[in-house]
Amino acid sequence: MVTAYIALGSNLGDPERNVQLARLAVGGIPQTRVAMASSLYESKPVDASGDDYINAVVKIETKLNAFDLLAELQNLEGQAGRALPQDRTHLHNAPRTLDLDILLYGDGAIDSAKLTVPHPRMRSRAFVLLPLAEIAPQLVSAADLQAVQDQIIYKLR
Ligand code: AMP
Repeated sequence: MVTAYIALGSNLGDPERNVQLARLAVGGIPQTRVAMASSLYESKPVDASGDDYINAVVKIETKLNAFDLLAELQNLEGQAGRALPQDRTHLHNAPRTLDLDILLYGDGAIDSAKLTVPHPRMRSRAFVLLPLAEIAPQLVSAADLQAVQDQIIYKLR
C-alpha cells in the first residue's frame, strides 16, 4: 500500500456537488481507499478568469502504481464531462468540471512526460496547501503557507 494525496477541483456546473461526488468516486477506484478527506474550500481562479473553484484534498491508500492511478483519475475527469487530455483544447487553466491531480505518491519522485510527482505547482497554490495542511499538517510548513497568503480562499465545510 502506498499513501498518496489527490487534489480535487471544479469550477463548472455544480462545483460543490462535482467535488463531493469525486471524493466518493476516488474511493471507488480499484485497490484504493480514501483514508482522510479535507473540508471543501472555495478559491478564486489562479492565473485565469471564470467562476470560483471548489477544492479539496484527499489522502488515499492504494495498491495501484502512480501511472495506473493517474489513468483512473483521468477516467473520472472524463466521466465528469471533461474531455480526456488528448482531446482537450490547449487553453491554459481553462474552466473545468473536474480536475484531479496527484500531489504526492508515497515519498516517490516521478518526472516523466505524463506525470510529475510531487506536483510541481503544489507549493505555490493556496487551494492545495490549505486543504493539505488540514489533513496532513506535517507536509506543509509555515513558510509554505506564508508564501500563498495573498491568495483568496475560504473554508466552507
Ligand atoms: P491539467 O490540465 O492541469 O489537469 O493537466 C493534465 C495533464 O497533466 C495530463 O496530461 C497529465 O498527464 C499531466 N500531469 C503531470 N503531472 C501530473 C500530476 N501529478 N497529476 C495529474 N496530472 C499530471
